[in-house]
Amino acid sequence: MTKEYKKIVIVGGGFAGINLIKRLTENDNFHVTLVDKNNYHFFPPLLYQVATGFIEPSNISYPFRRMFQEKENLRFHMGSLQKVNPESNTIETDTGTLNYDYLVLAVGTETNYFGMQHVKEYGLPMKSIDDALNLRNHILLNMENAVRSTSQAEREKHLNIVIAGGGPTGVEIAGMLAEMGHNIGRKEYPEIKDLQQHIYVVDAGPVLLGPMSKKSQEEAAKVLSDLGVHIILNTAVKDYVDEKVILADGQTIETTVLIWASGVTGRQVPGLPAEVIGKGRRIMVDEFNSMKGSNNIFALGDICLQTTDKAFPNGHPQLAQVAIQQGTLFAENIKKINEGKTPKPFVYNDKGSMAIIAKYKAVADLPKLFFKGFFAWVVWLFIHIMPIAGFRNKVWLAFNWFWSFITNDPTLRLIFRPRKEENEPVTQ
Ligand SMILES: Cc1cc2nc3c(=O)[nH]c(=O)nc-3n(C[C@H](O)[C@H](O)[C@H](O)COP(=O)(O)OP(=O)(O)OC[C@H]3O[C@@H](n4cnc5c(N)ncnc54)[C@H](O)[C@@H]3O)c2cc1C
Repeated sequence: MTKEYKKIVIVGGGFAGINLIKRLTENDNFHVTLVDKNNYHFFPPLLYQVATGFIEPSNISYPFRRMFQEKENLRFHMGSLQKVNPESNTIETDTGTLNYDYLVLAVGTETNYFGMQHVKEYGLPMKSIDDALNLRNHILLNMENAVRSTSQAEREKHLNIVIAGGGPTGVEIAGMLAEMGHNIGRKEYPEIKDLQQHIYVVDAGPVLLGPMSKKSQEEAAKVLSDLGVHIILNTAVKDYVDEKVILADGQTIETTVLIWASGVTGRQVPGLPAEVIGKGRRIMVDEFNSMKGSNNIFALGDICLQTTDKAFPNGHPQLAQVAIQQGTLFAENIKKINEGKTPKPFVYNDKGSMAIIAKYKAVADLPKLFFKGFFAWVVWLFIHIMPIAGFRNKVWLAFNWFWSFITNDPTLRLIFRPRKEENEPVTQ
């Protein structure tokens, strides 16, 4: 008797998607198709190190076809999701139409500009490898502009860097830029003094690292202040006009670099009924990650809003661990659903959170323990190297870190602009 295979289409090869695929085997009677707009998986927590020229993009990216070489039941379809047609069990991508028995949406989030058109047009997001490379080019080009500036005001404008958002991403990039300004600035840009004095972190909330403990917040503020970073709290960015960042209290900062690390919103998935889209444009799912009102469409990771977990009645935080754990459990659940058995509800196991602030300085909030400093920094490095896809990438990343930290002199400050017109932000 021939086996009956069901088609699972998984859109998005981020943490949720790949952890699901890793656990679906040939014996599970599924034909699996992974759809992604890129041909690689990447590791967002280290994007800021790519953006600052500390590590190479290839250290944190890995091709899907290589990753799943051994999976005979998997096909990869490179394309961007355009529309879901639940009535015909099909999806449309910009490279073709696919049909499914089960559809898993794991497309994550996109940058939220909170409706500020100028910020969207001229600000620099940090959500993808393209964004990180774009940011790296933009900062390096600015440095060249600063060096050539003939007036002090012009030079200040090119040197100032405003980071909107004092969460882990904003803090991490501020610390890295300040340290590089200190270590590299004086060696390579002798015309410019006190590079690190030109970095501003602006946040609408009262503290840095909002979701973390008070101790972590205080440590982040102290370390960044010691590095010369200006911290502006309780103040939202309101606009970005004529190379001026306008703050809610009326202050303005002249700059050609506004890094937008201020928030995300669920990616739009056209074709889904309006009533399944919840807060933050996330897809509402039940305890088994099944989309509200559907029995063959599921959502995992950042894109889903699951309010059934008692400890997280407003939905889970949009973190890698949630996506990994949901992908892992869903691999078991989809087998059970397919066999008519009862799936297991998802409960998030919160292992704590960490942030690196500067060299040898990190903070760690574990469920019952707080620690900081060198030990936290070493643990952070270890934790961030383990999930990197591919043994070669792990080794290269470790080597790059070792070299860069020991010498204070990474060598990746190269301005490569393969698709200039498309990639470069429009300057005002
Ligand atoms: C700069 C940054 C730093 C972060 N730091 C941390 C951290 O330190 N710790 C932590 O826990 N979390 C961190 N996060 C959050 C973490 O990365 C996310 O929670 C996690 O990636 C969510 O996984 P996911 O699988 O839901 O989505 P993602 O990992 O975002 O994956 C989505 C996938 O969908 C694909 N995709 C998107 N749109 C389409 C489309 N239209 N068609 C086809 N494919 C599409 C994308 O290419 C991607 O492969 C950070 C995020 C960012 C951006």
